Amino acid sequence: MDMIVVMKAGAIDDDVNRVVDRVAELGLVPHPSRGEFRTIIGAIGERTPEAQQQLEQLPGVDEVMAISQPYKLASREFHEADTILDIAGIRVGGPHVNIIAGPCAIESREILFEVGRAVKDAGASILRGGAFKPRSSPYSFKGRGKEGLEILQEAGRELEMPTITEVVDPRDVGVVNEYADMFQIGARNMQNFNLLLEVGKTDKPVFIKRGLSATITELLMSAEYVLSQGNHRVILCERGIRTFGNETRFTLDVSAVPVLQERCHLPVFIDPSHAAGKRDLVPALALAGIAAGASGAIVEVHSCPERALCDGPQAVLPNNFAKLMEQIKQIAEIVGHRVTPWGREDTQPRRAAAGGWGG
Ligand code: PEP
Ligand code: MN
Repeated sequence: MDMIVVMKAGAIDDDVNRVVDRVAELGLVPHPSRGEFRTIIGAIGERTPEAQQQLEQLPGVDEVMAISQPYKLASREFHEADTILDIAGIRVGGPHVNIIAGPCAIESREILFEVGRAVKDAGASILRGGAFKPRSSPYSFKGRGKEGLEILQEAGRELEMPTITEVVDPRDVGVVNEYADMFQIGARNMQNFNLLLEVGKTDKPVFIKRGLSATITELLMSAEYVLSQGNHRVILCERGIRTFGNETRFTLDVSAVPVLQERCHLPVFIDPSHAAGKRDLVPALALAGIAAGASGAIVEVHSCPERALCDGPQAVLPNNFAKLMEQIKQIAEIVGHRVTPWGREDTQPRRAAAGGWGG
């Protein structure tokens, strides 16, 4: 079982460095995590009572404990505070509520730009659009691939919004990394472990959607796959699970939000669109998720849903999305959260060092 070394509040850098070195000498992998109040050093590997005792005696060490959960780096035991990511200058996680919006798939330049502009004006902070679509039928539209990624990048740059798109094949991680700001791992690929390892080797945020029938622990283990590769920028998303009813496409497990937040430090989002399957139900589910404390939502929006090539029935119209954003802002405030505002100095998006928006 892995351990965490909890440093005393007054521990100095030398103490921390000494522990990190000793952990490595003991054949364990050290993961220091400097919190606001104390530093915790994860020691990943097989625990021996001797190693634990030796670490306990080092200066500045408060206590050494075993991490009981199968997921380590994702656990609250390992990292006490909420993780807040900086995505092109936008803060994601904890009390910062970000809404990701856009069409299910990138169908054309015109539609993506039209929808993108509308969702940005309404207050969405991240633009979505699928270029590689995982479809239940082999005969359905599978996305425009690289051409779609090029359109997404253009839209991100033009609208000054970070972009997110799904990657379904480990062989496409390189090209998606070139064009988009965030990877989406779809529900159907939540346990595609090679894909998780591949995105874990990049430094882009990874948005992992809960599998159709996955438990909370399985979702956290998928996050652990990415974290274990050194990419600590992971966001989790509840998007509805299979239950016995068929009135909705899936059942949004609202309780997944507080349960995930209790167990892990990563930002938790909800996806009301895929859970509902019907646009009229999307606002209620989105508000429920934000009320439950989610750090954001991913919402499908389309300017002409009846012509959409994918997920038209659940796409909300831009004007209804704008109304929903207003309600989201109010609900967020009630639970002490705040929708990421545009135009404020400290949250002004900025071009990432390499490439800027859209990759
Ligand atoms: C999507 O976001 O368009 C999508 C396919 O979602 P999920 O993987 O949750 O079904
Ligand atoms: Mn979709």
